Amino acid sequence: MKYIQISLLVFILCFNGCKDDSELESELQFYLDQFEVEANARGLTFENQINSTEIHLVEIITSGVLGQCVRVDAEPNEIHIDRNFWLNEATDLQKEFIVFHELGHCILNRGHLNDANGQGECISIMYDGNSPQCMLNYNPAVKEEMVDELFNN
Ligand SMILES: [Zn+2]
Repeated sequence: MKYIQISLLVFILCFNGCKDDSELESELQFYLDQFEVEANARGLTFENQINSTEIHLVEIITSGVLGQCVRVDAEPNEIHIDRNFWLNEATDLQKEFIVFHELGHCILNRGHLNDANGQGECISIMYDGNSPQCMLNYNPAVKEEMVDELFNN
């Protein structure tokens, strides 16, 4: 009986995010690499900066904040992404969006941009995540255009 209870507990804990660390690390690395792939497709490279950027899942306490570019005086820069969001809520596109957004701060030195197109949708991956100025709708149909905007500004 006790064994069953313990198994159930382990199952529940695992259900809440039981990807092992190396699996998680390669998933995070995948999105860093994707940034370089998109840069390359536009004739740019940030290989050195990408290689010196660390990315970590952490518990971000500030409400509404899902990611942060942490600038440290000594290289490398660090990106923090909210652990619960990443493990339990984010879709693949949202994961890409948030990593690209933070790299926009950390590597491209961009600030926020909340401009809207004619339909009221955000034109930039550098949308601040809270402004009512535009509606975020990052999807495969607009991705190319938004990634263009990210690298070309
Ligand atoms: Zn931001």
